[in-house]
Amino acid sequence: MKTSTTPSTPTTKRRTAKQFERDAHRARMAEIHAAAQAIVASGKCPDCGAALHRNSSLAGWWQCDRSGSGSFRRDLSGAHCAFQCFTE
Ligand SMILES: [Zn+2]
Repeated sequence: MKTSTTPSTPTTKRRTAKQFERDAHRARMAEIHAAAQAIVASGKCPDCGAALHRNSSLAGWWQCDRSGSGSFRRDLSGAHCAFQCFTE
């Protein structure tokens, strides 16, 4: 005796609200990362013009050389700058 069950296929492929949110978030992050990558490629802080360096504590984390305090600050010239961005 042959028994076969027909697999039920979803009739509609509507995007759920969650999927939409996830895609929107992904697109927003891609935009932010693309902008950050352009800044890093320029090699200069957009706020003060100092150089940028990568902070290996977090993936894709870039900071202005005038950020940080004390021995953590790489560029002691000019005013303190808090610029940072993420390329990943
Ligand atoms: Zn800066």
